[in-house]
Amino acid sequence: PPELHLPGPYATWHRPLTLERLLMLREQYPEGKIVVGNTEIGIEMKYGRKTYPIFIAATHVAELNSMEVGPEGLTVGAAVTLSRLMRKLKQLVADRPKHETRTFQAMGEQMKYFAGNQIRNTASVGGNICTASPISDLNPIYMSTGSVFNVQGEGTGVRKVAAKNFFLGYRKVDMQPHEVLLNVHIPFTKEHDYIREYKQAHRRDDDIAIANAGMRVRMEMSSQGEWVVAEAEVALGGVAPRTIMAPLTMAGLQGRTWNKDTLHAAINSLAQDVYINSQSPGGMVEFRRAMVASFFFRFFMHVAFELD
Ligand code: FAD
Repeated sequence: PPELHLPGPYATWHRPLTLERLLMLREQYPEGKIVVGNTEIGIEMKYGRKTYPIFIAATHVAELNSMEVGPEGLTVGAAVTLSRLMRKLKQLVADRPKHETRTFQAMGEQMKYFAGNQIRNTASVGGNICTASPISDLNPIYMSTGSVFNVQGEGTGVRKVAAKNFFLGYRKVDMQPHEVLLNVHIPFTKEHDYIREYKQAHRRDDDIAIANAGMRVRMEMSSQGEWVVAEAEVALGGVAPRTIMAPLTMAGLQGRTWNKDTLHAAINSLAQDVYINSQSPGGMVEFRRAMVASFFFRFFMHVAFELD
């Protein structure tokens, strides 16, 4: 297909074919809107009455469409659709050792309940991340698994941002107007990494989350022959204006044996990590608090069964 430049009465549409051109257009039109699946932008324009004078379609740039498996993990281009990613994850889970693909397994499970086929066939990995919705279903998984977002602007090298530091506020990310998200690096898991994803919505199909979560622990055997927590990451969505980590809980889990006392301590500290204002948008404050505790309970049980 050719590169496109379609001027119109309300908006101009650019469709570059190379990364170099994409970055040039991004630099030239800081007010320009990068578009891939249009599943967020379309809603903003139709229901939020937003207008954008310039669109830059990132759909045909090879670097943003690649999926590469390296020695450390999977790197997924930002314009890859969720359906393509699901197929790739399924294949990796089938082909590679189980302990390496626990994040992929969790992502695949979460995506079963991400919108529906029509949306997944067009919505992109990068569009979901850059929207920075506090109820994105995948952001908690990236944040709890050490995933890294690679961003780039014209004339600058690739800048790596840890997923857990990328979301700055409500729909606000650590990216400059001249930068684009290139890809996401999702590391393989290690031998005793346990990862789980959670989502609570009104319906199972085609519904956005009320709350969601991504949780990971790396367990190790202590000198006393007990499993203890070597690393813990807990990311929560739907409980704040952005997806958040639960720092008190993560610190509290460190070094602990996986037993009932640990479960109770974590549920108590989650109540401190999560403060939902009674006036917060979306309401259901008690329910969302309860969901956080319930997600952790399910995670605790999952890890206990895996260790058994
Ligand atoms: P677009 O609308 O094309 O773009 C979204 C934003 O990202 C724009 O601001 C755009 O400028 C920016 N952007 C895109 N790519 C880049 C890039 N490479 N660099 C910089 N900026 C970029 N989300 C969920 O998490 N879970 C759900 O269950 C869910 N269900 C949905 C159901 C429906 C019916 C709809 C309409 C949406 C749903 N969504 C859901 C939200 C949405 O589908 C996702 O966030 C989707 O992944 C967005 O991708 P897109 O390619 O359509 O983004």
